[in-house]
Amino acid sequence: MALKSVTRSDFHFPVRVCIEILPAPIVVEVKNMPSFKCSDIGMNCRFEATAKTKEELMDRIMEHAKNAHDMDMTSPEDVMKVDNAITE
Ligand SMILES: [Zn+2]
Repeated sequence: MALKSVTRSDFHFPVRVCIEILPAPIVVEVKNMPSFKCSDIGMNCRFEATAKTKEELMDRIMEHAKNAHDMDMTSPEDVMKVDNAITE
């Protein structure tokens, strides 16, 4: 038991240093990344995407829709459907 806790505190030290060096906003940004699931727009598909911005995510979804579903996603209804399915 005593040996275990010594090993643990050895691991804790470098981890804590890393966290202090990393600027806090990065952690917040990752949490707020918009994401999309293809199944949310009723597709029988397991595609999931996350991006730093909604625009970037939209681009990825468009690309996926074209490649995987042969959909152009150009109609306002399609765009709105995708937009509603994006969680931020
Ligand atoms: Zn899909």
